Amino acid sequence: MKIFCVGRNYVAHAKELGNDVPDEPVIFMKPKSALLQANTPFYYPEFTNELHYEAELVLRICKNGKYIQERHANKYYNGVTIGIDFTARDIQDELKKKGLPWEKAKAWDNSAAIGKWIDLKPEDMKKEIRFSLHKNKELVQEGHTSLMLFNFDKIISHISNYFSLNIGDLIFTGTPAGVGECVVGDELEGFIEKDKLFDLTVK
Ligand code: ZN
Repeated sequence: MKIFCVGRNYVAHAKELGNDVPDEPVIFMKPKSALLQANTPFYYPEFTNELHYEAELVLRICKNGKYIQERHANKYYNGVTIGIDFTARDIQDELKKKGLPWEKAKAWDNSAAIGKWIDLKPEDMKKEIRFSLHKNKELVQEGHTSLMLFNFDKIISHISNYFSLNIGDLIFTGTPAGVGECVVGDELEGFIEKDKLFDLTVK
């Protein structure tokens, strides 16, 4: 199982971190060990002093493929949820400055949290999706698929030009504006529309 992540897929978020708006999807990966298993506590990692949440829609791949055309891409995923691409922002800033890879900031154990899956039927594929993240019961991030620079089909097609997609792979599709810090004791709740799909407390 592989976990793909898209960076800078919302203009307002790219700008809040001082990044350019990309002309093709920015892709990075997390290993299987990054997936926070259900009902497992999330612990604040000891190597960072600036842990950030990034709430993102996550797709579940249901069909093996390579060189997938955009117009066929919606056959390759059948589930969506909301997840958190946890980021050690202090380490990422350091690595970016030096032009080094991001794995130590992004791909560590349990850095990919996901909620309960919503199964998608073919008629759901064209629907826009609204999602949000609440921290300690306050709205901190709100996203909408219409604001994505690269939609689900473009992302799947692009990734598949470089990597085979396999059943069970996950794609974090990028975070909207409003990323920020979380500390021990913070409660993070992720919603798609009105459905709460995860509820996680930083330990
Ligand atoms: Zn992210």
